[in-house]
Amino acid sequence: MEQTLMLIKPDGVATGHIGDVISRLERRQFTITALKVVQKATTAQLTAHYADKVNEAFFPGLVSYMQSGPLVALIVSGTDVVHACHQMAGATKPSEALPGTIRGDFGRLWDDGAIKNVVHSSDRIEAAAHEIDIWFPELSELTES
Ligand code: GDP
Ligand code: MG
Repeated sequence: MEQTLMLIKPDGVATGHIGDVISRLERRQFTITALKVVQKATTAQLTAHYADKVNEAFFPGLVSYMQSGPLVALIVSGTDVVHACHQMAGATKPSEALPGTIRGDFGRLWDDGAIKNVVHSSDRIEAAAHEIDIWFPELSELTES
């Protein structure tokens, strides 16, 4: 079964949208295969997760944002779940995300320059497998043993 990695980012947790995100996944009949609260993401996790962003000027701000509070990591399973969850998340900037998407409904603009957008979702199946390993290393250790 196809799997994707979703993160409810620190702004999504702080503004009280853990339940809203999970409700939307359940409403679409996706399976929550794993779920955890990460009290503070490590710099190593974020560098691996955002490996394509490490040379961007906004990378240090992105790391501070992602370490600003607890986040929730989920493995979501179902048919075509990677594409579906990416569509449900919506456009990167909350100001461009359509109403009906998670970011369009729960995202807001912040005045600190960071693009805080409530959730992350994997953009491709291969990225999902890599990201699941970053946030749920204990699961890959289990399947490898
Ligand atoms: P996503 O896949 O829609 O989350 O977007 P990207 O993969 O392009 O970027 C990853 C994350 O980095 C985004 O969700 C934002 O939190 C942040 N980000 C991306 N582009 C920018 C930018 O131009 N400026 C700032 N400050 N943050 C950005
Ligand atoms: Mg991305």
